[in-house]
Amino acid sequence: MRPIQMVDLKKQYNKIKTEIDEAVLGVLESSAFINGKPVQDFANNLSIYLGIKHVIPCANGTDALQIAMMALGLEPGDEVITPSFTYIATTEVIALLRLTPVFVEVDSRTFCMDPASLEKVITVKTKAIVPVHLYGHAAPMDEIMAIAKKHNLFVIEDNAQAIGSDYYSSDGKKGKTGTIGDIGTTSFFPSKNLGAYGDGGAIFTNNDELAGKMKMIANHGQRKRYYHDMVGCNSRLDTLQAAVLNIKLKHLDEYIKARQGVADDYDKAFAGNTKITIPCRAKYCNHVFHQYTLLLDGVDSPHSYRDGLNEFLAQHSIPSMIYYPVPGHRQKMFEHFKSASVDLPVTDWLTERVISLPIHTEMDNDQLNFITSKVLEFVNR
Ligand SMILES: *Cc1c(COP(=O)(O)O)cnc(C)c1O
Repeated sequence: MRPIQMVDLKKQYNKIKTEIDEAVLGVLESSAFINGKPVQDFANNLSIYLGIKHVIPCANGTDALQIAMMALGLEPGDEVITPSFTYIATTEVIALLRLTPVFVEVDSRTFCMDPASLEKVITVKTKAIVPVHLYGHAAPMDEIMAIAKKHNLFVIEDNAQAIGSDYYSSDGKKGKTGTIGDIGTTSFFPSKNLGAYGDGGAIFTNNDELAGKMKMIANHGQRKRYYHDMVGCNSRLDTLQAAVLNIKLKHLDEYIKARQGVADDYDKAFAGNTKITIPCRAKYCNHVFHQYTLLLDGVDSPHSYRDGLNEFLAQHSIPSMIYYPVPGHRQKMFEHFKSASVDLPVTDWLTERVISLPIHTEMDNDQLNFITSKVLEFVNR
């Protein structure tokens, strides 16, 4: 059996090596390392794939969130609502921009923003909502968009973990996650579902005005070279990464299917076990399984039980991860915010119980069987 990794990027590369090597060599030959043709090609290809008017490539998924928030014309102290149960990037940029993060509860089944809690934390200072499509499962966008509309708030979807996921609106419309709110953002960090061979990110919108502004912000606030209308930043997707992404985008749907296949097998193995809750797949979306995350419950001290499984698997050379061990509202960096002292029982409950198993596009059956047998050995002993 090959060694098990959380994500197997090497085997995936080997399968598309000819295509990738040719594209990378093409960039080296052209030596247009910044803003070469593959960058615009990739923006166009991704906009077609997502069915969105504008795709603005940038340096990483954190920058994408920052540029999106900078474009909204918010004032220091304005409140931005986001889950505490997410990767730190989502919440960090809010504070970085001198805005106030307001943490909201998530649903215990979908791990995503809970609309009922959302409505409760809206104040006169609230300006934007940032739902996160965590682990590859969409947040309930119908409800979130309705609340945003009612209170006149912007919505930025953090789509870093769910690129390619379909969302089925209650009105019968089907669209990709990240294209439903005012702005969507994503990351091409190598381990993401659409991963580059280095850092990368992108911002999506159907709004022409916001698109123009975000392009300017990502490029030192300039509309015309050396004429800077506003303070911006320097955030680019480099040509090598765009060349790689152009090839990987063609495989994205097949990569998603491979991940879903692994999830199906895990589901089958764990179904009915009283200590394991398998990931929920709400009917309104197509879970793309950036992570396969179990909930361990039905034991006296779930936190140490979960950590025990993590260690037990490690002893058998099976990696597993806790995403994330400390939720936003308990991070030191947010200590001085009033919103950090809120009560988020579901978030805390989940934090003690989640564990993510290896999932990627190159999993072999013997690896899968070994992982499931070891998980079951631990919970059934
Ligand atoms: C990965 C990730 C980001 C940040 O992306 P980087 O490219 O690493 O900056 C933001 N939000 C979420 C939910 C992520 O998973």
